[in-house]
Amino acid sequence: MAPRSDASENRERMTPEEAFSILGNELRVEILRELATEARTEETVAGGPGLTFSQLYERVDATNSSRFSYHLQKLTDTFVRETETGYKLTYAGDKIVRTILAGTYHERPEFEPIELDGLCPSCHETTLRATYEDEMLVVRCAQCELRLLSFLLSPAQTKNRTPTGIMDSADRYVRDEYSMVLDGVCSECLGRMTNTIRPGQEPVGGIYLSVHSCEQCGYRVTAPVELCLVYHPAVVAFYWEHGTDIRDESLWKLFEYIHSDRWRTECLSSDPYEFRVTMTVGDDELRVEVDETLSVTSVRAVETRIINDETS
Ligand SMILES: [Zn+2]
Ligand SMILES: [Zn+2]
Repeated sequence: MAPRSDASENRERMTPEEAFSILGNELRVEILRELATEARTEETVAGGPGLTFSQLYERVDATNSSRFSYHLQKLTDTFVRETETGYKLTYAGDKIVRTILAGTYHERPEFEPIELDGLCPSCHETTLRATYEDEMLVVRCAQCELRLLSFLLSPAQTKNRTPTGIMDSADRYVRDEYSMVLDGVCSECLGRMTNTIRPGQEPVGGIYLSVHSCEQCGYRVTAPVELCLVYHPAVVAFYWEHGTDIRDESLWKLFEYIHSDRWRTECLSSDPYEFRVTMTVGDDELRVEVDETLSVTSVRAVETRIINDETS
């Protein structure tokens, strides 16, 4: 058997329950915060020397050094590592302290409802409303109240931002997140994600959804199959040539493309799934085909559309 460090062996033997029970102490959480603060002020790219035992002891509110030493020892290997130059956070310590500083465990996000321009795929109302409900940021149709989008909302995300700024941050995050998800990478744990296609349910029939699931942590992301096209260079170029940067359109504005005549989606096959999406701007068309993994298999530009060829 290959030799490995005691630290990694200890961590491997530990259950999640044991790991989390280590954190149930104020002084230990304070130690993690101080190490995070130090890591933030260090200017070296590769990480600085960390804090020595005495430097760390001076920064926390411990009654005596043996009590401090006992609690530091409890954290060591799991959340803190001892290096030649000082104590530093482990990957697990870094993750946990960041969620503590972001307020994830002890604060609630605050959000005032706002109205947005978009398109309801069910009743075609163009005013949508964003509210905070069931721990999620939810976008509904202002008319029929159909739930169109839901985002995770963190307490840190709502600090020092207006409702519009919060919506922009949610949109930005989901755009980048979905780009990872399309490449099979979970945005929560970086585990492998795979997708399945299923038809949308009433009241929004005639659409197809891609459901992406992480094999490791179970995180799920659901989106209309057409959303993947916003990331394709041919689609970006097509809209760019017509004066629109489609990468700048918010997710709720994209409903105006996906659920209107601008984009027509045909299901070419359901086993395996295959789709053709025809995009129209003026007299120009772009036809893009995608397979069930949402990979683009064909792109065809039609320079001048023959007017009325599809209406008879
Ligand atoms: Zn509606
Ligand atoms: Zn995951």
